[in-house]
Amino acid sequence: MTATRPRWAILEAPRLVLPLCLGVGTLAVVLVVAFPGPVPTETDWARFLALLVVSCVQTELSLGTEKARRYLADRPHINMTSVWMFGGAVVLPAALAVTLAVLTYLHLWLRVWWPIQGRPAYRVVFSSATIVLSVLSVPPVLRLFGAADVLRDDWHGGRALLAIAVAILVYTTVNGGPVAVAVKLHHPERPWRKTFGTKAENALELATLSLGGVTATVLLTQPVLVALMPLPVIVLHRNVLMRQLEEKAAQDSKTGLLTAEEWQTRVAAELVRNAKSREPFGVLMIDLDRFKKVNDTYGHVAGDAVLRTVAATITGQLRAYDSVGRWGGEEFVVLLPQIPDQGACDVAERVRTAVGDLSVTVAVGDTTHVITNLSASVGVACFPDAATTVDGLVHRADEAMYFAKRAGRNTVVSSAERAT
Ligand code: GH3
Ligand code: MG
Ligand code: MG
Repeated sequence: MTATRPRWAILEAPRLVLPLCLGVGTLAVVLVVAFPGPVPTETDWARFLALLVVSCVQTELSLGTEKARRYLADRPHINMTSVWMFGGAVVLPAALAVTLAVLTYLHLWLRVWWPIQGRPAYRVVFSSATIVLSVLSVPPVLRLFGAADVLRDDWHGGRALLAIAVAILVYTTVNGGPVAVAVKLHHPERPWRKTFGTKAENALELATLSLGGVTATVLLTQPVLVALMPLPVIVLHRNVLMRQLEEKAAQDSKTGLLTAEEWQTRVAAELVRNAKSREPFGVLMIDLDRFKKVNDTYGHVAGDAVLRTVAATITGQLRAYDSVGRWGGEEFVVLLPQIPDQGACDVAERVRTAVGDLSVTVAVGDTTHVITNLSASVGVACFPDAATTVDGLVHRADEAMYFAKRAGRNTVVSSAERAT
């Protein structure tokens, strides 16, 4: 997929995005002018330059990693330059800290976001403005804890820790708030909870800012050692991205379920786990009945919406440690660890009933339709009775599923029951 580069993308953004950008941008400028902090000393300039250099080094050495991000347009953008910007917010006068943040973003935009990801300028200006607000939120927090100047000799260690911890929380909240509003404006259907990112994303953000706190301390005590900071940041950044790529590769893009390959890998792992104990586990093969008719009647886009709803419905009937994948087309597969044949049949029956109860609202042109009367045929096979290999289990579940089709569809058949 190539990135699109609209000339004035903001004009195509949702209506309230423009006032939000203007508001946040104006507030950032006004606050910088009103609270520039003390006049920078020579030491301040030296620290500023040190942070600017490590920030540029990190961005330049992360270009390869950022290129891979093109395949992750739908994932949150993890950007670890906050390490330097938060560090700067702690040790530099506000005006210099803001300059560092703006230069960092400008560098990212020129080298990464524009050439590699085609990110529109208004989004860069908006995120720069929110970062400026975050940077400006740090000095008041430090002052609140009696640390107008963190270099002060009598600054107590415990208080420093508390001050930095609170500064991290305020920084991330000031940054996350406007971003969440912008995400909500772009995706009104998304619940508020989701606009603030997942637990893992927030944990990474906190980890990044904690490293920023460490960077600040290093700058205050042994400035040269700041040269040791970019490498761990670059490696962490790369590892996070690799993890995101792995997750994406394991996911069926249409339904968000596991791909058939990933699902088979999980079954293979379950076989290894149970090889000695012979503890039973179940495999389901679920095929939607007469699905072609849905496509023929409402079109393939509506058919896709049905597939997504069915995928979510199947997942909703399972335990957290069950694995569900899309085998292909309108066929789904489920791995049910630690369950005997009867238990697997009960789950299959629950899934079948839930699919039958579905009503999916789809828009076809200007008309909305409610699709009901869906049904599924489900085949069940259990380790070790039905088979003891991945292919064997899938084959037996498939056989049972075709038996269910021949028996009139909308039913569950177990390979054990066929054997008797
Ligand atoms: P049966 O009860 O025998 O399973 O009938 P069926 O119509 O479900 O089965 P058949 O194998 O004849 O057709 C499967 C249909 O699934 C055909 C195809 O159009 C549809 N299908 C497969 N993959 C997709 C997809 O990704 N999106 C949509 N919308 N339809 C798909
Ligand atoms: Mg089929
Ligand atoms: Mg079918």
